[in-house]
Amino acid sequence: MRKYVIMGVQGSGKGTQSELLCADLGLVHISVGDIFRWHVQNHTKLGAQVRRTMKAGELVGDDLVESVVRQRLDQHDWNFGFIIDGFPRNGRQAEFFMESYDIDGVVHLELPDAEVRRRVLSRRLCPGCGMDYNLIADRPEQEGRCDICGTQLVVREDDTPEALAARLRDYHEKTRPVLELFRRKEVVYDIDARASADEVQKEIRKALHLPTS
Ligand SMILES: [Zn+2]
Repeated sequence: MRKYVIMGVQGSGKGTQSELLCADLGLVHISVGDIFRWHVQNHTKLGAQVRRTMKAGELVGDDLVESVVRQRLDQHDWNFGFIIDGFPRNGRQAEFFMESYDIDGVVHLELPDAEVRRRVLSRRLCPGCGMDYNLIADRPEQEGRCDICGTQLVVREDDTPEALAARLRDYHEKTRPVLELFRRKEVVYDIDARASADEVQKEIRKALHLPTS
C-alpha cells in the first residue's frame, strides 16, 4: 500500500502528475477541490455550504476540509493506496494525518512564482463550451477563438495578476507550516516542476522508488 500527499502551487501540474501516478499503480487520486466541485454540481447539503462560503468571498474552513477528507478515506476503496491533493491544510492536520495514515511520502512540486505567473496568466477559457486553453501549451488554432465552437476566448475572472499575487501569498503562508512539519519527519521529496509533464513524472517516480512505466 502506498500513501502519498502531493503539494504544489496552482499551475505546478499537481492534477496531471497525480493522474499519471495513479494510472498504472492502481492508486486513488483524492482531490479536495474535485470533491467540493462534485458536491456543488450535485447540489448536496455540503455543496450548498461550500457555495455560501465562496459567495461570501471566504475560503472553505480547515475543519470542513478535514471532515470531507475523513469521509472520503472512510470509503476504503483505496486497496493499493492513494495520493491526496489539497490536504492537510495546517500543522495540526498534518501531524494527525501522518500518525493515523502512516504517509509514505510527500511530493512537493516546486515552481518559482514567476513561472506560476507565466503559466496561469496565459490561461484562456471559452465561455461558449467551457474548453480550457493555454497560450503556451494548448494554443487555439485561430488566435483568440475556440477550436470547437468558435466563441471568443476570455480570461478567467480570477486570473488577474492581482488576484494571482494574493493567491500566491496565501498559498505560501498556509503551506509553510505544513511543509516544515513534513520536513521534520523527513518525508518530503522536492521535485522541480519546470520540466515537461513526462520528465516531472519520471523524477517523482525516481524519488519514490516506483517503477517507471
Ligand atoms: Zn468553445
